[in-house]
Amino acid sequence: MGDNYSIETKCIQSGWKPKKGEPRILPIYQSTTFKYDTSDQMGRLFDLEEEGYFYTRLQNPTNDAVAEKIAELEGGVAAMLTSSGQAANYYAIFNICEAGDHIVVSNSVYGGTFNLYGTTLKKQGIECTFVNPDDPYETLCEAFRPNTKAVFAETISNPSLVVLDIEKFARLAHEHGVPLIVDNTFATPINCRPFTWGADIVTHSTTKYMDGHAMTVGGCIVDSGNFDWMAHKDKFPGLTTPDESYHGIVYAEKFGKKAYITKATAQLMRDLGSIPSPMNAFLLNVGLETLHLRVPRHCENATRVAEFLNAHEKVAWVNYAGLEDNKYHTLAQKYMPNGTCGVISFGLKGGREVAVRFMDHLKLVAIVTHVADARTCVLNPASHTHRQMTDEQLKEAGIEPDLIRLSVGIENADDIIADLSQAMETV
Ligand SMILES: *Cc1c(COP(=O)(O)O)cnc(C)c1O
Repeated sequence: MGDNYSIETKCIQSGWKPKKGEPRILPIYQSTTFKYDTSDQMGRLFDLEEEGYFYTRLQNPTNDAVAEKIAELEGGVAAMLTSSGQAANYYAIFNICEAGDHIVVSNSVYGGTFNLYGTTLKKQGIECTFVNPDDPYETLCEAFRPNTKAVFAETISNPSLVVLDIEKFARLAHEHGVPLIVDNTFATPINCRPFTWGADIVTHSTTKYMDGHAMTVGGCIVDSGNFDWMAHKDKFPGLTTPDESYHGIVYAEKFGKKAYITKATAQLMRDLGSIPSPMNAFLLNVGLETLHLRVPRHCENATRVAEFLNAHEKVAWVNYAGLEDNKYHTLAQKYMPNGTCGVISFGLKGGREVAVRFMDHLKLVAIVTHVADARTCVLNPASHTHRQMTDEQLKEAGIEPDLIRLSVGIENADDIIADLSQAMETV
C-alpha cells in the first residue's frame, strides 16, 4: 500500500488485499500446509528461489498479511509475527548474535526482557551490558566492546515509563557500527515512529495496545531496511556469508533490504518455530483496525487520571510523561507529541501496605497481570510480579516498593476517577 496513505487508513486497509471474488475480510488460513502440482515447484520454494507457502511454521498467508500491516504502520520494509513479545525480542537479537557476542541494553527495559537478555542469553554465550539510558553519550560509549553487535531499548519503558532519547541512541549504535533495536510496545506506531528518528529495527509485544482487548499473546519484528549489513561485513557473518543450511545463500546479497527478516523467517522460524496461530493473527488484525482510535483515547483518559492523582493529598508521587513537571516531558514532546501511552505509575503515602489496601477496595479497576488493554487495571509489582524481592533489591532494580502500575483503559474517565477516589477514601 502506498506511503501516501495516513496511518488511520493503513490501520484499516493495509495487509490483506483481496483479488476478484476473494473474501473482503482477511481469511483465517487454518492449514498447516499448502498444495503444489509438481515437485519442482515445491523444490524451488525450499531453495528460496521463489516466494510461496509450504508449511505454516515458516509462513502463513493470514500471518503475513498482518505482518505487512504492522510493517506499513511502522514505515518498515518487512516484518515477521511471533507467538509472543518475548519471542520477538529473543529473535531480534539472536538473528544477528551468536555465542561470543555482546549487546548493550537499557537497564529500564521490561522485566521479562531483562531476564531474557541478562540471564538466558548469557547461558547461550551472548553477554549483555545494561546501561542507564539517561547517561551522557560519552558514558554510554564505555559499554561497547569489539564484539558488540546491537543496542536495545524501549521507546517508553514498562513499567518505569522512561522515555528514550532515540536520536542519541541511534547515533550511539551507528558510531559503533551496529543497529539500534527499539521495543515500541507502549508508544505504538500511532504515537511514535522510531524509524524516523534513526532506529533500525522495531519490536512489539502485540499483546498490549495492538491487540488491545487482552485476547491474544503475540509479538512482531519490523525491519526498516536501513542498516547496511555489508558495510559491517565482519560483524554480521550470519547475513553476509553463505548460509550452508540454504545451499550457500548470502542473505544480504540475495535479499537486500529484506535480508534481516528473510533470515529470521527462513532460519530462526524454521529451527525454533515460535509462530502465532493464524486464528490469533486474525484477532490481532481486528485489534489493529481500531488502534488509531483507541490509543488517543487511552492517552486522553490517562492524562485526566494523572492530573487527578497529582492533585490528591494521599498520593506521594506520580510518574506520567504527559504531566508537565515530569522528568521525561521534554523528550516525550519531541518523540511523541500526540501522547505517550495509557500507563501511569504512582505511589501512595504510607507505602506498600497502603498500596495493597487501596487496590483491594477498587471496584471497576481490576487487579490483573496485564497492561495496555481496553479495561483499566492495576498491579503492585512489589506484591505481585516482583514479590520475591526485598525492598532493597526492588530499589536497585528501579522499582519503588509502593509503585502502583495503573493501566488506564478506554472507559469513561469520570468513572475511572470515581473508582480511584472511593478507594482512596478507605486508606
Ligand atoms: C509485555 C511486554 C513484553 C513481552 O511480551 P509478551 O507478549 O508478554 O511475551 C516485551 N516488551 C514490553 C515492553 C512489554 O510490555
